[in-house]
Amino acid sequence: MTNAVSFSSVSRHFGTVRAVDDVDLSIAEGEFFAMLGPSGSGKTTCLRLIAGFEQPTSGHIEIFGTKVENVPPYRRNVNTVFQDYALFPHMNIIDNVAYGLMIQGMGKAERHKAANEALELVALPGYGDRRPGQLSGGQRQRVALARALVNKPRVLLLDEPLGALDLKLREQMQEELKTLQRKLGITFVFVTHDQGEALSMADRVAVFNNGKIQQVGSPQDIYQRPQSRFVADFVGSSNVLEPAFVKQLTGKDACASLRPEAIRFVQSDGHLATVTGSSYLGGTTRVGLALGDMRINALIPADQAVPENGTKVQISWQENELHLMEDAQ
Ligand code: ATP
Repeated sequence: MTNAVSFSSVSRHFGTVRAVDDVDLSIAEGEFFAMLGPSGSGKTTCLRLIAGFEQPTSGHIEIFGTKVENVPPYRRNVNTVFQDYALFPHMNIIDNVAYGLMIQGMGKAERHKAANEALELVALPGYGDRRPGQLSGGQRQRVALARALVNKPRVLLLDEPLGALDLKLREQMQEELKTLQRKLGITFVFVTHDQGEALSMADRVAVFNNGKIQQVGSPQDIYQRPQSRFVADFVGSSNVLEPAFVKQLTGKDACASLRPEAIRFVQSDGHLATVTGSSYLGGTTRVGLALGDMRINALIPADQAVPENGTKVQISWQENELHLMEDAQ
């Protein structure tokens, strides 16, 4: 099957900054693909390279099997939803949504029909006469989405589109976006620095650091089987167990990641640890532990008794919860 997007050894340098550094990547048609990483790791630059707002310093990009070096943004069958929505404040909603079609020369009746269909798709029918200033943040976000969908792109690029929304609305929109993507079958490439957002929405996640992809995989792969310390640290709140300890347990010379929720308190046959603190988080409690020289966290259900600071406890975990990391820098 042809990939929707593929990168072969793509780099984009700005002076001495390697914003994107020798990236290979393929995104399948119909996939919901998340680019996850800290600020400055190169996610947005990758998105802009796909959109055609940037050109690679070296390497090649293909969209549906066609090399796009010489294809301008408006001919790539790709649209972008930006975090700040970029709506025109003086235009009503219908004209905002239909703007791209107007530029393409489509007649008024036809483009308004398409815009109304797009507004229905994002659950905003009947809002066409309002101006952006008369809508809530969540509604403006939907208008931006409708505008990007109106000309039926094959790939939709979303750059932190939910960043400006409060938590509750963000969670609601995460579900809506996912449902919409399934319904339309369009390839979505979604940029976020929020690991929860990436894990909950995407079919696959690429974790970026310093312009490079550290790991690509399903949310389960990324969360449960991080291949590097960076991924273990960035995705969730994994404990990293040091090689000396791991060697005693497994005989192997490697670091290992262990998720806080995998740690159980047991009565016997566990590893001896000392409680260093605890934080009530609502549904769960995080318990800080000293395990030899290491500081680790356990996550326990909030209704479970929390041992006092300084208490010696025994902890245990299932053997398959420990994931060795060969790349342990
Ligand atoms: P954020 O989440 O903050 O948007 P990001 O992961 O999307 O971060 P990029 O915006 O891709 O990161 O930036 C990657 C690096 O490239 C950063 O160091 C940034 O300062 C640099 N950079 C990006 N665009 C330019 C530019 N036009 N000129 C110079 N440097 C740039």
